[in-house]
Amino acid sequence: MTKNNTYNNWLTSISGEDALIIAGPCSAETEEQVLQTAKGVKKAGAHIFRAGIWKPRTRPGNFEGVGAIGLKWVQKAKAQTGLITAVEVANPHHVELALSHDIDILWIGARTSVNPFSVQEIADALKGVKKTVLVKNPINPDLALWIGALERIEKAGIENLGAIHRGFSSYKKMPYRNEPLWQIPIDLKTRFPDLPLINDPSHISGKHENVFDIAQTAIQLMFDGLMIETHIQPEKAWSDARQQITPETLASFIPKFIPPNDRVFNAGLLKTFKLLRKDIDDIDAELVQLLRQRQEKIEEIGRLKLNDNVAIYQKDRWLDILSKAVHNAEENNINQKFVEQLFRLLHQESLKIQHRVFKQSQSPSIDN
Ligand code: PEP
Ligand code: MN
Repeated sequence: MTKNNTYNNWLTSISGEDALIIAGPCSAETEEQVLQTAKGVKKAGAHIFRAGIWKPRTRPGNFEGVGAIGLKWVQKAKAQTGLITAVEVANPHHVELALSHDIDILWIGARTSVNPFSVQEIADALKGVKKTVLVKNPINPDLALWIGALERIEKAGIENLGAIHRGFSSYKKMPYRNEPLWQIPIDLKTRFPDLPLINDPSHISGKHENVFDIAQTAIQLMFDGLMIETHIQPEKAWSDARQQITPETLASFIPKFIPPNDRVFNAGLLKTFKLLRKDIDDIDAELVQLLRQRQEKIEEIGRLKLNDNVAIYQKDRWLDILSKAVHNAEENNINQKFVEQLFRLLHQESLKIQHRVFKQSQSPSIDN
């Protein structure tokens, strides 16, 4: 993708300085539900109305979307509310139908962006079309694959492009439906600062009660907008009932999504930042010096172990180090999990350093 492409600033032309809000049901179910939800999200302050027309479901037999009839309802919702409309497309046929129903924004879902063949077919169907296209992250945590999907769409001539972060599928036991892995969208934003980046807290959370927290985290992390599943009667939704919120709840959330300043304008604050950052830089330099000293001790112990034929890994010593570190963390009010992870990393490196000492003794020296 082109670096520093302005992507035509389509997002700011819709939301200005505010966070862009896309809201609407997981699925279009009935005409009444589509029209009522559209009116509700418009009143709440959303900019764009979303609705799923064809639903990618994990197993057959579940509700797979109402199909093309739903596009007519979305068109009607647009006529009645003036909202910009967005639907998911998963193949060229969907693209053709969405275009013939005058849908403004098409998005590619997580189960489609994972497959370059499917994305390319959609890209080919979009050649010469002037629409906005949003690409959700693939279900697996693969930034290159996400960028590849965006590139295919861009190469088809789509200038109004954007990315949606909806989290990543995982078999781990976790509080989320999809793991956020925030570093991945942050890496995308760092590489393509002008590419609009939207967060989908509904599919990350999987539960309506966690949607706000995730959305707020995204806003603090400088995301440009949010896509939030909204339904007039979430508990009766035909898909993703557990994670949808009502338009009234959405209305109570939106005023709280105030984007932070990405630059510091206040001169006094800037001065304080400079001092604090200097302190942090000094501490970081000191940390590296301490690691150097730690490494020297480890090398010495490695040589002694080698001389006396002692095993590198000493379980009791490791457990002792770990329990001391965790106890210390507790005493100093530092996150114990973080300290534990850090010490695991240190120990892993320590084993590596000692292995290196052992290996060096085995390779013939240049002198003999
Ligand atoms: C959706 O937006 O309703 C959807 C199916 O999302 P995802 O592609 O992120 O699973
Ligand atoms: Mn959904």
